[in-house]
Amino acid sequence: MPLKSKLPRVGTTIFSVMSKLAQDSGAINLSQGFPDFPIDPALGDLVHEAIRAGHNQYAPMPGLPALREAIAEKVERIYGVPYDSASEVTVTAGGTQAIFTALGAVVQPGDEVIIVDPAYDCYSPTVELFGGKPVHVRLGGDMKFDAAAVKAAITPRTRMLMVNTPHNPAGTILRDADMRDIADMLRGTDILLLSDEVYEHLVYDGEPHASTIRYPDLRERAFVIFSFGKVFHATGWKMGYVLAPEALMAEFRKVHQFNVFSVHTPTQHALARYLREPSHYEQLPAFFQAKRDRFAQGMQGSRFKLLPCQGSYFQTADYSAISQEDDIAFAKRMAVEHGVAAIPLSPFYKDPPPGMRLLRFCFAKQDATLDAATEKLCAI
Ligand code: GLN
Repeated sequence: MPLKSKLPRVGTTIFSVMSKLAQDSGAINLSQGFPDFPIDPALGDLVHEAIRAGHNQYAPMPGLPALREAIAEKVERIYGVPYDSASEVTVTAGGTQAIFTALGAVVQPGDEVIIVDPAYDCYSPTVELFGGKPVHVRLGGDMKFDAAAVKAAITPRTRMLMVNTPHNPAGTILRDADMRDIADMLRGTDILLLSDEVYEHLVYDGEPHASTIRYPDLRERAFVIFSFGKVFHATGWKMGYVLAPEALMAEFRKVHQFNVFSVHTPTQHALARYLREPSHYEQLPAFFQAKRDRFAQGMQGSRFKLLPCQGSYFQTADYSAISQEDDIAFAKRMAVEHGVAAIPLSPFYKDPPPGMRLLRFCFAKQDATLDAATEKLCAI
């Protein structure tokens, strides 16, 4: 039967490819972004308690009210902005579902969506699935946000701009000046913003997280996406949430209800209680910064050149002093021959810059894993 693919150019994600290669070859897996250390046992206990207490049926479609209230309280505590837990907060099955649903809710056929490469790999195919046209621009030197390039891509058909801070895969952040530039270019337009902030809290060297939430001109037009999996070391739970003004959220929920309807009930009960203790997220910057620094220290004796890492749990590194192979070939060979798996950067681009020789390493790992990996990487 002839089947016309809706995503003819899409294969299996590079995360699945590299994690499988790591498994098959026995390489240390610094590719797909997930911690190799356990969650806080107290959080696990809360999930067990919720299951034993019988919280095992459908949660309300937008999320458990207690969790949405805890989220709104946390957001107000950190950013000083009140989101209405009833109408402006929705709990999702992770960040990717939230992105998919937000795009599905607002992208009409022919709408242009500006994507800044390197970009997380779900953005562009999701825009295409809903009939939109991804318009790709690039980060500038040192993976810095290039406001002029983004502004130049705006046309009368632009429906949305997608931004990401802290950035996956680059490990850079948007700063106050970038957010002001974005606010300036969107002011007076009806362009929506999707702000992927799943690595909230993973910002280093004492810098603030310049969340879209802090900027009134931006948050009034924004879906802001967050992840519990990333911040509580439980990526396999696929739990996240989205904040948006009521009118946008009403459209989001129309799609959400037919996409997942609602997400795992016991985990929502657990998170509602866990989130009320600020120390559970306040210690995250120091915790991950120590890992970033340990990895960088371990790499000092290597031929890799590390790019600036200001946030996320990813470190990008240039391997051009080692090889001129293309990044996918080099990453595969490195896993098999040198025992460390990483993610090549070209899959995050529509048109990878010629000659780019970059890999992304995930440092959300136990110290022993980081030490064993850097020892191998120094030997290449
Ligand atoms: N967010 C993870 C990463 O960047 C991947 C998640 C996935 O495999 N879908 O590595």
